[in-house]
Amino acid sequence: MEENSIRNVAILGSTGSIGRQALDVIRLHPDRFRAVLLTANNSWDMLCAQAMEFNVKDIVICNQDHYRKASDTVSGHGISVHSGMEAVCDLVSSPEIDIVLTSMVGFSGLESTVAAIKAGKTIALANKETLVAAGGIVMEAARKYGSRILPVDSEHSAIFQCLQGSHGAAVEKIHLTASGGPFRTWTREQIAAAGKEQALKHPRWRMGSKITIDSATMMNKGLEIIEARWLFNVLPEKINVVVHPQSIIHSMVEFADGAVIAQLGHPDMREPIQYALGYPDRLPLDNRKLDFAELGSISFFPPDPDRFPALTLAYEALDKGGNMPCIMNAANEAAVAAFLEDRIGFYDISRIISECMEEAEFISEPDLESIFSTNSAVLGLAHRKISGTA
Ligand code: MG
Repeated sequence: MEENSIRNVAILGSTGSIGRQALDVIRLHPDRFRAVLLTANNSWDMLCAQAMEFNVKDIVICNQDHYRKASDTVSGHGISVHSGMEAVCDLVSSPEIDIVLTSMVGFSGLESTVAAIKAGKTIALANKETLVAAGGIVMEAARKYGSRILPVDSEHSAIFQCLQGSHGAAVEKIHLTASGGPFRTWTREQIAAAGKEQALKHPRWRMGSKITIDSATMMNKGLEIIEARWLFNVLPEKINVVVHPQSIIHSMVEFADGAVIAQLGHPDMREPIQYALGYPDRLPLDNRKLDFAELGSISFFPPDPDRFPALTLAYEALDKGGNMPCIMNAANEAAVAAFLEDRIGFYDISRIISECMEEAEFISEPDLESIFSTNSAVLGLAHRKISGTA
C-alpha cells in the first residue's frame, strides 16, 4: 500500500454492524478509501443500495436465492453481481484490492479470509472466529504469503495501538477489558432464567445479535483471549481479563518494567475500523471525545467464573490446543443460535460447549481441512444435544 494514495477496500459482510460502520468511515474519507467489493449473505436490498451509493464494481450475494432480485435492482449501474462463497474467494484476490475487511459472522468467514491471505492482501480482521478456529494455520499462512493482519476488534486494536512505539519490547501482560455485559450484576439464578430479550440489551455497545449474546455469556471475551494469543503471539497465562463496566479503556499492555499503556475512548467501533483501514495514519473522526472531568471515575472488577463459565472454557481450549478452540467455537455458534430461537436456556449454552469439548474428536495438529470437518462434526453434535438426542 502506498502512503496517501486511495486504498481500495473490500468489505466482506457489508450489511452487518461492522460493515455499515466501515462504510460510514469510507463516506467520511472519500479521498482515502474507495469501496470496490461488497458482500452479504441475505440482505440483498441493503447490499444493492450500498453498491449504488458507493459505485462499487462487484457485489456478492452469498445466498443464491437472492441473486436475481439483486441483479435486477442494480442493472444499468455498471455493477457486476455474483453469488456464492466461491465468488467471494475469487474476487478478494483481484489485484486492485488493497485491504480486505473481514466482518462476516462466525466460522463462515474462515474460507474467504484464507483466500485473501493467500493473495497477500492486508486484512482488517473483524471476524475473530477465524483466529479462534484456526489461529495457528491462519497466522502461518499470513507469514508465508506476506499478508498483514490488522485488528478491528476494539480490544485488539487497543493493544495494537499500545504497541506502536514500543520498539519490539517484550509484552509482559495483556489486560483485556470486558464490559461484563447486561448480566454483570445479576445473580446466577436471575441469569439462569434470562431470555434473549434481556441478553440482547448490551449496556455499552450496539452490535449484531451473535456477538451480543457472546457478550452476555462472556464467551466474547473467551474468543478474544484466543484471538489475542494469535495476533500478538503471547502465551495464555500472560492474558488477563478485567471487568471494566464503563468500556472507556479498550485494553492495556504491561511491559517488563511494570509500565502499563492503555488506549481510551468512548465506545465507537468506527475508531478501530478507521485505524485499521488508514494504518499507520490517524484521520479525523466525528466521534464523541473524552472529557475526563465529566467522566469522574472508572472502575474495575475481577471476572466471576461461577456466573460466567465461558472464560474458563476458553482458557481450557487454548491450553489443550489443536482443534479444541474450533470445537468450542462451533458448539458456541450452534448453542447461541438455539438460544436466539428460544430453544435452550442461558446456561445450556455453556453446558453444551463443555460437553462438546469433552466428546468431540480431538486432533492435536489439525490442518485446514480437519478444521472444516471438526466444525461440521461439532455443529452436528451440538444440534443433537439441543434437540435432546445426544
Ligand atoms: Mg471486542
